[in-house]
Amino acid sequence: MTMEIAKYDYLIVGSGLFGATFAHLATKQGKKCLVIDKRPHLGGNVYCENIEGINVHKYGAHIFHTNNKEVWDFVNSIVEINRYTNSPVANYKGKLYNLPFNMNTFRQMWGVRTPEEAKAKIEEQKAEAVKALNGREPQNLEEQALTLVGKDIFYTLIKEYTEKQWGRKCTELPAFIIKRLPIRFVFDNNYFNDRYQGIPIGGYNKLINGLLDGVDCLTNCDFFKNDIDLSDNLRIISGDLRLKDHWQDIADKLVYTGAIDEFFDYRFGKLDWRTVSFNTRIEDTPNYQGNAVVNYTSHNEPYTRVIEHKHFEMFGQQVYDCSKTVVSEEYSTEYKSGMEPYYPVNDDRNSALSDQYRTLAAQEADVIFGGRLAEYKYYDMAPIIEQVLNINI
Ligand SMILES: Cc1cc2nc3c(=O)[nH]c(=O)nc-3n(C[C@H](O)[C@H](O)[C@H](O)COP(=O)(O)OP(=O)(O)OC[C@H]3O[C@@H](n4cnc5c(N)ncnc54)[C@H](O)[C@@H]3O)c2cc1C
Repeated sequence: MTMEIAKYDYLIVGSGLFGATFAHLATKQGKKCLVIDKRPHLGGNVYCENIEGINVHKYGAHIFHTNNKEVWDFVNSIVEINRYTNSPVANYKGKLYNLPFNMNTFRQMWGVRTPEEAKAKIEEQKAEAVKALNGREPQNLEEQALTLVGKDIFYTLIKEYTEKQWGRKCTELPAFIIKRLPIRFVFDNNYFNDRYQGIPIGGYNKLINGLLDGVDCLTNCDFFKNDIDLSDNLRIISGDLRLKDHWQDIADKLVYTGAIDEFFDYRFGKLDWRTVSFNTRIEDTPNYQGNAVVNYTSHNEPYTRVIEHKHFEMFGQQVYDCSKTVVSEEYSTEYKSGMEPYYPVNDDRNSALSDQYRTLAAQEADVIFGGRLAEYKYYDMAPIIEQVLNINI
């Protein structure tokens, strides 16, 4: 049964950055939007949970970075971005190294003081790796990486970390995964080369709430179920139909940011994903590891990284004003149905399958497919916002 009052211009499935930015811009243009999300909260993967006064990045650490001034200004018009600079540290069997690979790393590894000394060391080790190939091309990731950075950096900072990430030996991974390994001959631990970076002051939820200010939103509402209840708005929609099968009753157009294969009822089969699982705990100390991101680059620890969330938003004395801290160990995990889909798998099967779904999507006249799940493509946050800013709403 459907009792309707006024229709929405857009039904937006998914309240992540794509859906929320779209809703914000459309609302600004006088369009009426309804945003639904199947999760119990808004914000998609940038959502943070407040634990002990700390914004905990529930779906993995998110650092905003961009070179695009329009995107930067847009985000700052909703919420100011702080001065957080991503400068991860690597822990290999208890010894610490700065990342990305730069003069600080080389000093810690070899005791070198000048770029010339560091270059000489790397060139010597690269030449050794090239010689070992005897004129043939690198056959796997291990051989490839050795020719790009030499043995010390590879064995200390790349090999075991990569094996934990992929769940396979570097000798079994294809060479093309690592095309370049950026090396800096300056003392600069800033991970990103982008002009702008940081974390929204007050956290990502503030950004999402700002984007969705004045927009009708429903959480715990799955597009593929019939559980929509708009009774608060004096509108009741129920019955046996999935929302997907009668969304036109609610809106003129659909913005869909869920999984593309699910939209088409997995007609050609399911797309694969890679995922990460988190072990999050409170530590009874104000400062556990002294940095937001520490990579564990040996097999001694089963996790790849430990994130200490407070360092994204607390600096100097603020770190100690908050007596506890929250840390998350990250584990690369094989994806199974029901887990969070995080990273698309770029192999032949999944590329062909996602192309098939994209062809179907192109035929849906009143539907805009957008975001990482609907495009089956990894995007950082800034390119997602840039895309939406460029849509003709
Ligand atoms: C582990 C990890 C770390 C990352 N770190 C960074 C980083 O440091 N910097 C950076 O720039 N980017 C980072 N990203 C990328 C960032 O998360 C994405 O750019 C961003 O989340 C994309 O937004 P989105 O709206 O496309 O997707 P999402 O945020 O996933 O939003 C999609 C929403 O759709 C909802 N949905 C799906 N299906 C349905 C349905 N059937 N019914 C109702 N709702 C549905 C979901 O619940 C979800 O809330 C990271 C990504 C991952 C996975």
